[in-house]
Amino acid sequence: PATSDTNGARTDTHCPYCALQCGMSLTATADVAPTVEVAPREFPANRGGLCQKGWTSASLLDSPARLTTPLVRTGGELRPASWDEALDLVAARLTELQAEHGRDAVAIFGGGGLTNEKSYLLGKFARVALGTSQIDYNGRFCMSSAAAAGIRAFGLDRGMPFPMTDLAGADLIVLVGSNPAETMPPFLQHLQGAAAKGGLVVVDPRRTPTAEQADVHLAPAPGTDLALALGVLHATVAEGLLDEAYVAERTAGFDDLWRTVARYWPEHVERITGVSAADQRALAHRLAAARNAYVLTARGAEQHATGVDTVSAWIDVALAHGLPGRRGSGYGCLTGQGNGQGGREHGQKADQLPGYRTLADPAAREHVARVWGVDADSLPAPGRSAYELLDALGEPDGPRALLVFGSNVVVSAPRSQRVADRLGALDLLVTADVVLSETAAMADVVLPVTQWAEEDGTMTNLEGRVLLRRKAIDPPDGVRSDLDVLAGLADRLGQPSGRFPADAEEVFTELRAASAGGPADYAGVTYERLRAGEALHWPVPEADHPGTPRMFLDGFAHPDGRARFVAVDHTGPAEPPDAEYPLQATTGRVLQHYQSGAQTRAVPELADAVPEAHIEVHPDTAARAGLDAGEVATVESRRGAVTAPVRCVPSMRPDVVFVPFHFPGGQRANLITNPVLDPTSRMPEFKVCAARLVPAGAR
Ligand code: SF4
Repeated sequence: PATSDTNGARTDTHCPYCALQCGMSLTATADVAPTVEVAPREFPANRGGLCQKGWTSASLLDSPARLTTPLVRTGGELRPASWDEALDLVAARLTELQAEHGRDAVAIFGGGGLTNEKSYLLGKFARVALGTSQIDYNGRFCMSSAAAAGIRAFGLDRGMPFPMTDLAGADLIVLVGSNPAETMPPFLQHLQGAAAKGGLVVVDPRRTPTAEQADVHLAPAPGTDLALALGVLHATVAEGLLDEAYVAERTAGFDDLWRTVARYWPEHVERITGVSAADQRALAHRLAAARNAYVLTARGAEQHATGVDTVSAWIDVALAHGLPGRRGSGYGCLTGQGNGQGGREHGQKADQLPGYRTLADPAAREHVARVWGVDADSLPAPGRSAYELLDALGEPDGPRALLVFGSNVVVSAPRSQRVADRLGALDLLVTADVVLSETAAMADVVLPVTQWAEEDGTMTNLEGRVLLRRKAIDPPDGVRSDLDVLAGLADRLGQPSGRFPADAEEVFTELRAASAGGPADYAGVTYERLRAGEALHWPVPEADHPGTPRMFLDGFAHPDGRARFVAVDHTGPAEPPDAEYPLQATTGRVLQHYQSGAQTRAVPELADAVPEAHIEVHPDTAARAGLDAGEVATVESRRGAVTAPVRCVPSMRPDVVFVPFHFPGGQRANLITNPVLDPTSRMPEFKVCAARLVPAGAR
């Protein structure tokens, strides 16, 4: 099927939100809002389905909340300004701050929803136009643990190294910390084959709508999914279920793994996780008996101080059963943000260059510097990771200015009051956004930018498939693309003419050259091929290469072709519950909202359906706190408090409290979250912290 096509007034494109990148058609209507009609279309990821977010996505195009003129803060108030005034001001202040405090006085924060072209140009802008090492992005908060675990196991990270349509043939699918029934409902179609055979297993502390549909729901205590994987591994070996031929031929490191796993007999793991030893053994047997099986992980496994190790433990389970690199079976990560995969490949990460190259690698620096026409020695070293960067803003050795593209960190970053305080300490905060998000509302300069239907650009969905999002309508007057913004700033910062093109296809052509020969090789992907309807999974090293839907069939990306077992140990959450904070708070999503909610809260149908946060607890937990359903309560942690109405859910574990994170102000779930970081991925522990529940006003 065509990935993109234009047919008269109809433009075939993809949804602006999550990593499924559902196919949709846009038809420009008369001048009556909404000026674009959305219809689902056949595409392998969604097979004609859309969720509520996709169906209503056009209403943000002509929303009254839309920004259509630059804003500049004067006398404490944001006032309209011309583009020249806004860009002149930003360039002048950046130059002054760097002259006074050094190159790293200016930082960039990007987003996993930005197109490949924007992600690429942002990384180049930071390293070439600004010469700063201080760039990272919000994907650090949601995909980096699986990326790091994938690289150490397989030598390369592509979230799903197989087409998601392969899932239809599975007998068994084990979903760990994933709730697609709310995050990406059309994805459930791909699970139906396994579900029809009684083979859908969900591992989640909450009985989510996805868990409701599962044949088996295992509910470990928050922060113990790693131990659960070790229990399943122990049972696999102890019950004689290990795929010994696969382990001998295709892997390395099993003996080291077993030295750790030998201590995790299922009865011991039952005491840690609350999941019975019998259930652990049953899962090991199901994995061994399945002809075709998949293990899929998502944010629930990743967003921990031990997120990389947790994903590694589940990859170890998949390897023990011989799944990765075998046609019809495998391990995959369900990436979340729209360009969660592409956004982590092109250089907006602190330690990375385009093509998924490493900034610390001299050969990678040489290659990319050649494409950029600069000296490799001029490229900065890796800088701070996302939370560390935000935490350092305005500190004596930290950045003095921050440019934010496609991210709303005041709501989405952990310990969000600290983040808001640091933003307030800056000499200059600039945001490029579609609406006045909570972060934009704090900015000194706000730049109004185009949306998906108003510009061309490529995205790479969760199965590594490169897609073309096509322009369907002109943007409102006064709005420019992020690429235009970067080009305009680069000019004002004295960059040679043409070094920062504003045309998406031109940027993509350069991206292809920069990625050539790297792990994520886009050299053979062209707009022409995408326009012609080709579906190209990277790597695509040549213009006539068909792409690589299935990876690792002949060997993994480590030099010896073998996957690595990684020996990991359970340590538990960084902040266990205690007498003062006896509950475990966890955060997540609801069907109607996307990420920080900056976009979906501006869509009336979605905001009406779910206008605010809620606090989800077991009825007994509410009763112990003196609360009834519907009463307003506060969840407190050592960092802050979030206040919202109570929802009593009998299937909740009595020791857990859940708050969705899409909402602003005092309903920000991230007021309470713990910013402790995974030592490898630097991802914060969003999924668990110690907390207590009290009636609102009882503090
Ligand atoms: Fe599809 Fe995700 Fe968009 Fe929903 S939000 S329509 S699941 S791409």
